[in-house]
Amino acid sequence: PVVARTPLIAGNWKMNFDHLQAIAFVQKLAWSLKDAQHNYADVEVAVFPPFTDLRSVQTLLAADKLPVALGAQDVSPEAAGAFTGDVSAAMLGKLDVRYVLVGHSERRAGHNESDDTVGLKARAAVAGGMVPVICVGETAEDLETHGAAAIPVAQLTAALAHLPADAEIVVAYEPVWAIGSGEPATPEQAEEVGKALREVLRTERGDAIADATRVLYGGSVASQNVASYLKQPNLDGALVGGASLKVDEFSRIVQFKK
Ligand code: PGA
Repeated sequence: PVVARTPLIAGNWKMNFDHLQAIAFVQKLAWSLKDAQHNYADVEVAVFPPFTDLRSVQTLLAADKLPVALGAQDVSPEAAGAFTGDVSAAMLGKLDVRYVLVGHSERRAGHNESDDTVGLKARAAVAGGMVPVICVGETAEDLETHGAAAIPVAQLTAALAHLPADAEIVVAYEPVWAIGSGEPATPEQAEEVGKALREVLRTERGDAIADATRVLYGGSVASQNVASYLKQPNLDGALVGGASLKVDEFSRIVQFKK
């Protein structure tokens, strides 16, 4: 059966833009896409600002009824209580956050997040009514030792073990060596891993969920290469870092033509 997976273009701002810069950026993005008469039925756009910007961006999106979804970059696996510095899924849900990144390599590596932590964070997002964007990817060393797919497959399998069977998720394949390096994976490489990840979904969750779940590619995505990934049968969008911080470039990425 042919299932339409609406492409998702997700801008991961990382630790960039204070709330005033965030407001200015989203306004410019909205104008740019309006000028381009962009058809939002064809593609879903999401931005992932830092926590301190979420309330401002939410207010702007709601006031101007902008068709941009809001995402958060992290969530606590815990519901509430003595967890200094953490932010709960319930708090994010109150801000109309729809997506939550979990397992980004900058958190796996920089904050020692294990597969279990990633799975528990994804579960907290689902319990809060949000969609976790589960990031998986191999390091350059993993690639040499295990090939491209083995580590991402293991990371996705581990995360799924913590989730209810019917949970809506998005999977993002981001080879660690491609992030911020200007050296993206080739579309063929990315497709091969995307296909392996969809097979994990098929085995663990069955055909309906495997066919409906979006698998994104991330790692040095830019306007010149985004279409080459979206053309692949198992890739349904892009998780964009550096290029999501420039309005014109991000706008061109959103308007990719297959
Ligand atoms: P990049 O980052 O587009 O700057 O490579 C992608 C990401 O880390 O999500």
